[in-house]
Amino acid sequence: MAKSRLPGEFELIARYFAPLSEGFEGAYGLRDDVAVMTPGSGKQVVAKTDAIVAGVHFLPDDPAGLVAQKALRVNLSDLAAKGAVPLCYMLDLILPSETTEEWVAAFAAGLARDQETFGVHLIGGDTNATPGALTVAIALLGEIDHNQTLRRGGARPGDVIFVTGTVGDAALGLVALLGELGEIDPAKADWLIGRYRLPVPRVGVGPQLTNLATASIDISDGLIADLGHVCEVSGLSADVEVARVPFSAAARTAINTDRALLEAALTGGDDYEILFTAPEEETDGIEQLSRRSSVPITAIGRMRKAPTETQERVILRDSSGQPMKILRDGWQHFQG
Ligand code: ADP
Ligand code: MG
Repeated sequence: MAKSRLPGEFELIARYFAPLSEGFEGAYGLRDDVAVMTPGSGKQVVAKTDAIVAGVHFLPDDPAGLVAQKALRVNLSDLAAKGAVPLCYMLDLILPSETTEEWVAAFAAGLARDQETFGVHLIGGDTNATPGALTVAIALLGEIDHNQTLRRGGARPGDVIFVTGTVGDAALGLVALLGELGEIDPAKADWLIGRYRLPVPRVGVGPQLTNLATASIDISDGLIADLGHVCEVSGLSADVEVARVPFSAAARTAINTDRALLEAALTGGDDYEILFTAPEEETDGIEQLSRRSSVPITAIGRMRKAPTETQERVILRDSSGQPMKILRDGWQHFQG
């Protein structure tokens, strides 16, 4: 099929992006210089931006619709973890001259699908050409009740550490994509790859955590690193019981074939689950939320006072409470 070259910037905006602003009054049909967003009364605006670059965050031949959805979803995940409700977003699209109109059409179709799923609208942006790599930057705006934003720094000693969904699927999906997963049922490998390619932000759970959680973060850098961020800002450390960390059936199968993959699952990023802390007395409320939203929520450990000597803030423990340490070839117990 002949690939058509890109039409001009204004034609591109009118054809592919203006339709994505329909239904959001303050977007002015993408025919003005700015957009206006009016938060509900008593609400604050919560904002997040994330840029992804071809060859760095995605492959140049990845399907354009998936690139669009992932670019939007990583921002949706951040707002969800903060307890905010997403409303609208802006899109900066930096395109190399060889970009085809088909690519832009598929990209816009991906956005349209997720706008439907997540109830957000495109309200503006910028379009530029580059001699460099294709770059997509999305800035997402949402709202939250005054002073309800869940922060990284609110955890208290004794708080229970919870995580939504399952951990490590995306990291193992990437291992599978690289052809390094070994002997595993192809259907399971595909499922893991799907978790890497198209994360599901926990938008249904996040806004309901504002009255339960003390601190919250989404898992983008990996369970241990992101829990480390919560520890750091909260001035605490954390004990994680590895046997309690929720793994999917596919992840368990992979880990059982190769113990070293446990390390990938615990340290790998891109899960976009929510990791949060809450006082023990909120456990019932959290179980109810899990049932209501049909999202598993699992207690995996506890926050405690930071040790005075410098040592790891996140301590992984086996089921008998012994600390485990990370080695290049997997996990082993501390040897005396
Ligand atoms: P300016 O000349 O003021 O920079 P532009 O000509 O770049 O404005 O953009 C015209 C309108 O189209 C603006 O409302 C802008 O927000 C919108 N727009 C431009 N590029 C995009 C894009 N990639 N996605 C959504 N809206 C866009
Ligand atoms: Mg411009």
